[in-house]
Amino acid sequence: MPTYDYVCNACNHQFELFQSIKASPKRKCPECGRAKLRRLIGPGAAIVFKGSGFYKTDYRSESYKKAAAAEKKNASDTAANSDGKDKGKKKAEK
Ligand SMILES: [Zn+2]
Repeated sequence: MPTYDYVCNACNHQFELFQSIKASPKRKCPECGRAKLRRLIGPGAAIVFKGSGFYKTDYRSESYKKAAAAEKKNASDTAANSDGKDKGKKKAEK
């Protein structure tokens, strides 16, 4: 049985529902009781929705990402140095 994503147009309540393909779409929102449910068609629609959300977040935090990238570079440099030392020690022990 496929999983359908529903979203309520009245209260924005979102949930997944296991439902037969033959079953008619639900209309009544379990949260607010209004017949305002909208079924999001297929898993593809959900992925597009989530993807655009991620994109917006990334776009907004461009400066943050640059700072994070700089930190990562420093961290990897440090890690590479310590890795090299460890490898040197192990080789020396053998
Ligand atoms: Zn609702």
